[in-house]
Formats: sequence, C-alpha cells, structure tokens
Amino acid sequence: MKKTIVAIDGPAAAGKSTIAKRVAKKLGFTYVDTGAMYRAYTYYVLQHGIDPKDEKACVAVIPQVDIELKPNDIVLCNGEDVTKQIRANDVSRNVSFIASYKDIRLALVEAQRKLANNVSCVMDGRDIGTYVLPNADVKIYQVASVEARAERRYLENKDKGIPCTIEELKKDIDTRDYIDSNRDFAPLRKAEDAIYLDTSNMSIDEVVDKVLAIIEEKAGK
Ligand code: C5P
Repeated sequence: MKKTIVAIDGPAAAGKSTIAKRVAKKLGFTYVDTGAMYRAYTYYVLQHGIDPKDEKACVAVIPQVDIELKPNDIVLCNGEDVTKQIRANDVSRNVSFIASYKDIRLALVEAQRKLANNVSCVMDGRDIGTYVLPNADVKIYQVASVEARAERRYLENKDKGIPCTIEELKKDIDTRDYIDSNRDFAPLRKAEDAIYLDTSNMSIDEVVDKVLAIIEEKAGK
C-alpha cells in the first residue's frame, strides 16, 4: 500500500485508541495517540502546581515540556515515563482546559504533523481530520452512546486498577465533550469528508474489520 494517513476523530471514550492501535498493527502503520500528548502536558502542569485554568501560566511553560511517544504506547514527559500517570482521574478532569489553549495546541500539532511525516500512520484525536492532517487519505468519525462509552471506560479502568463509578465517568465524558466541542480553536467536530461510524452496538472486532474495509476501499492496495 502507498503511504497512507488515517485520521480517527470522535468524542471521549468512543474507543478510538483501541481501534486505531489494532488497525495500525494489522497494517504495519505507526499509531499516534494525540490525546496522550495533551494528557502528558496536563500531567506536567499539575505536577508543577500550575492552575490548569490559568491559560497564561500553562502556556508559559511550553518551552519546558518535552513530550515523546515511544513504541508500545510509552509516553515520556521530559524523559520520565508517565504512561500510567496520564490516565489518572485528575488528568482526565483537567485535560480539556489545557487542550483549549491555542498556543499549546499549536506546539503539539507541530509535533503531531512531524510524526506523520514520511510514514503511514493511524492518528486519533479530536481535530485530526479537520485541522492536524486535513489531507488524510481516510477520515473516520467514531462515536458511541454515552452509556456505551461510560461502560467501556469503566471496564478499562477496572482492568487498570483506576477507581471510578459509571456516574462519575458519564459526567466526566459529558464535560470533556462539551469543552472540546465548544473551544474556539480546532474544536471537536466531524470533518465534512469523514465517514461517520456509530459503534454503540458493535464489537471491537467488528469495528476493526469495518475500518480496515474503509481503508482498503479509500486507499487501495
Ligand atoms: O483521546 P483522549 O480522551 O485521551 O484525549 C484527552 C483529551 O485531550 C480530550 O478530551 C481533549 O480535550 C484533548 N484532545 C484534543 N485534541 C486531540 C486529542 C485530544 O483536544 N487531537
């Protein structure tokens, strides 16, 4: 297959990363989890006692934050392995504030575009098809009902030993979607040319097969 870029966007906890990771593995493509970058930045802000709602203070530390995505989903922040820490509840609750600051987005988007340079990749996030990689060969907008998303995230968290309740998760998902969809710069929305995929009643394998079929059809062999 020629160099192919696949963009998967959608609301919180819609299962994008699970699907993107599996599809990338099947095709031998690089997987880029852009949410992990916003989470790592948020982790840095919280660790340094900066108020995530203070845009000026959050933006001021851009030169001090170096985020790297490594193989096997490893995320480094200034060389420290923060893979586990960035999934913690306090990061999830604050990440959408950080992601609403234009200067931080511009810095992370630059890094994301570099990661997609010269390789075939599957990148997931909120603004990949609309802003980061508008010329992507394949764009998918993956959604699921809030109920399905909260339940999936609950099982995932349980697996990782992260304490939470379904009600808390629903609230967190709704709040994040609201902030992500209503920010001024590169908000969450479906690209006009993205394929809308509602996965509420689909198994992971079914979604993976569907996405592979879409890629095959759009990008060809
Ligand atoms: O994908 P994940 O849920 O881990 O992303 C965490 C948060 O990062 C999102 O709720 C959103 O605020 C932000 N994000 C974003 N743009 C992206 C990816 C993530 O604003 N491309």
